[in-house]
Amino acid sequence: MSAIYNFSAGPAVLPGAVLEQAQAELLDWRGSGMSVMEMSHRGKEFMSIAGQAEADLRELLAIPDNYRVLFLQGGATSQFAMVPLNLLRGKQQADYINTGAWSKKAIGEAGRFCEVNVAASAEDSKFTTIPALESWQLNSDAAYVHYTPNETIGGVEFHWVPDTGDVPLVADMSSTILSRPLDVSRYGVIYAGAQKNIGPAGLTVVIVRDDLTGDTVAGTPSMYDYKLHADNDSMLNTPPTYGWYLAGLVFDWLKQQGGLAAMAEINQRKSARLYDAVSASDFYNSPVDVACQSWMNVPFTLADASLDSEFLTQAATAGLLNLKGHRSVGGMRASIYNAMPEAGVGALIDFMGEFERTRG
Ligand SMILES: *Cc1c(COP(=O)(O)O)cnc(C)c1O
Repeated sequence: MSAIYNFSAGPAVLPGAVLEQAQAELLDWRGSGMSVMEMSHRGKEFMSIAGQAEADLRELLAIPDNYRVLFLQGGATSQFAMVPLNLLRGKQQADYINTGAWSKKAIGEAGRFCEVNVAASAEDSKFTTIPALESWQLNSDAAYVHYTPNETIGGVEFHWVPDTGDVPLVADMSSTILSRPLDVSRYGVIYAGAQKNIGPAGLTVVIVRDDLTGDTVAGTPSMYDYKLHADNDSMLNTPPTYGWYLAGLVFDWLKQQGGLAAMAEINQRKSARLYDAVSASDFYNSPVDVACQSWMNVPFTLADASLDSEFLTQAATAGLLNLKGHRSVGGMRASIYNAMPEAGVGALIDFMGEFERTRG
């Protein structure tokens, strides 16, 4: 069988070596006689798995000591509520930058808890660009500024970090975390659902600065309180143990690849090859402003949309799966996270050239 490449936006491809290791350890984790799925989260075996995963993530992202790392459930969507519940801290307002579908969801949820000021929006451009920082109408009374560094659906990515002064910056990094090095100290909170670039669905990673924990909005459920999770080492209740373990295997794999500087180089190169192929042809088009094209999610359209379904059918036959664009954007979307090998991008580019030659 020839290689299959999975371009799903999430849950997404995992490194083959990680899945093989998980398979080898599935029934008996390192002589313990137990599967990781069967272990007590408070037993010494799982405690070592959990501790190693956190240590490796801290090393990969160079997370400063005054940040807590939480391994939670509830997805990025729970963070849309957890952020205001923990960060409002007596304030009534928060700033949001609207660069696409996920920003909008975060804005909608925050509106249940506070007054949301949309300080900048790219909606007029149909979310194909990012408003320049100079145009942002930031509010000095805002409790925090929330943005989405990579919009998974629109394929729009910030290649810079906004400076919000003393107002904590909050980032939904679900589809970009671990794709490149990060200066964590620029952020108050970073959160990510695992199923794009970390591991399987069901795990949510939160990195939160110490001083932003411990003062929740009255009535906040315990499960939505950063400090309670931090004080209990993310074991306030039963954590998603198997997802945590798999994330740990991914962190270890990333270290073996040379860490995030090495990943950044690979990701930049992978995405550049694909964007170059798209822009070199009149048959394909990228809807996104060149300055904010995502390294992770590459939407592209066919000049003749009536060929879309044929493109998808032939691509699947060639082993290139899940290339259908989100219904709100149309066309195609290739998600090329860390675990997508360069050969997968090469195979996609070859297929696109061949399809254009025969159908263009
Ligand atoms: C996938 C995604 C989400 C939603 O994540 P869930 O884990 O399903 O809640 C939110 N934000 C971004 C940027 C995403 O890519």
